[in-house]
Amino acid sequence: MSRLVVVSNRVAPIKEGKVAAGGLAVGVYDALRQSGGIWFGWSGEVSATPQTSTETVGNITYVTMGLTKRDYDQYYRGFSNATLWPIFHYRIDLARYNREEYEGYRRVNAMLAEKLKPLLQPDDIIWIHDYHLIPFAEACRMLGIRNRIGFFLHIPFPAPEILTAIPPHNELLKTFCYYDLIGFQTDTDRLAFQDYVTREVRGIIEPDGSLTAYGQNFRAGVYPIGVMPDEIQQTAASYRGRRQLIGRNSEGGLRQMIISVDRLDYSKGLVERFKAYETFLDRYPEHRRNVEFIQIAPTSRSDVKTYQAIRQQLESEAGHLNGRLSDLDWTPLHYLNKSHERRILMGLFRSADIGFVTPLRDGMNLVAKEYVAAQDPNDPGVLVLSRFAGAARELTSALIINPYDTVGMAEALDRALRMSLAERKDRYEHMMRAIRAADLGAWRDNFLRDLRSFVSRPKASGTAQVFAL
Ligand code: UDP
Repeated sequence: MSRLVVVSNRVAPIKEGKVAAGGLAVGVYDALRQSGGIWFGWSGEVSATPQTSTETVGNITYVTMGLTKRDYDQYYRGFSNATLWPIFHYRIDLARYNREEYEGYRRVNAMLAEKLKPLLQPDDIIWIHDYHLIPFAEACRMLGIRNRIGFFLHIPFPAPEILTAIPPHNELLKTFCYYDLIGFQTDTDRLAFQDYVTREVRGIIEPDGSLTAYGQNFRAGVYPIGVMPDEIQQTAASYRGRRQLIGRNSEGGLRQMIISVDRLDYSKGLVERFKAYETFLDRYPEHRRNVEFIQIAPTSRSDVKTYQAIRQQLESEAGHLNGRLSDLDWTPLHYLNKSHERRILMGLFRSADIGFVTPLRDGMNLVAKEYVAAQDPNDPGVLVLSRFAGAARELTSALIINPYDTVGMAEALDRALRMSLAERKDRYEHMMRAIRAADLGAWRDNFLRDLRSFVSRPKASGTAQVFAL
């Protein structure tokens, strides 16, 4: 089997026998272990004299490099996280465009491709991950690299009207066309991409389903990222910390527990969620003192301005809610900014009566799948899930809510807390079937199978005339 070369913004070396890391790292690691190869990307370091480091463990070589402060500001903090991330999550209001940052983004992609080139063998398969690296294949092709190259977009792909808010959207989209295979989380994302290709740049859908645009022929497919349900079940069931966190109600029984876990990001709908919980306690006062809500939200990208603003807003919401409703023996909301070990999270998921997952927009949302997989099959909790999470396409037996509908979310919380055991089990079993059918192994294997087998059409066969509007 040909070697695999994975390129992602961050590289997560995993020590043999350890499966403590999140889904993506484990999925990529397993794929690399099967065929041997290289994991290539940024080390996370920023310095005036960036170093490249190479470490080989077994049949995997980890190659990481640092970035200069200028590269970090323009490529990572700038175009990736202040332009692409908000636009791809439908937040034009939070996006900015700066031409130097865009040029820095292109420059870092070109620099990474140049560093990768001498490490490649002719039959290596290259798999690029996520929005930081969209122009990577084009940069490779400019250097004469002819290997098969696939790309997986972990975040949503926006509707064309939103995407065109990025001034160089045509140029950016053109770079997608140098991949052999582009993978999306959901069909909605794939269709939005196809829409852009066919309407904005008059690309063509070929009879075999592949696309031709800018003189390139390539394929776009749907590969929803999954979890490892058996590993999660085991971890969750063996966690003994269980209920210490939650207090007891006036009759001495355990309070019901609602849990949410998200990186502190404006796409996760945290402010709307806090408001919905407050509305729930106001509209259904019988639940007061009988329920506690744990929100775990580790800070992320704290040097990007919009992230500082959301943090302040949440602190004020949490303070307001607890100040208004808490009692000496009851704190309705526990808001924790620390990140938690996976083992603890899975245990908390199993203990919680409701998994409350309400992003305004999310590529997939692994937490939703992890919450379901962690449940006790004999007494499962209820997943309340936003229709705007990619996971909602598969987990159709969750209580699906619209995160812009505060009262609707409050009603769903009430319904979930009152749901019969039979209905909870029914919904859980249905969701587990979906989770098993599209687990992490299926995501990886299906993508790599399609990438290995894709044969591009001869360039002359498509109507290669393309107009950039
Ligand atoms: N996670 C974690 N510790 C934390 C918070 C989150 O290990 O304190 C993990 C979580 O279990 C999940 C991942 O981080 O596997 C988050 O993935 P998701 O798709 O939900 O959101 P993203 O952060 O990728 O937008």
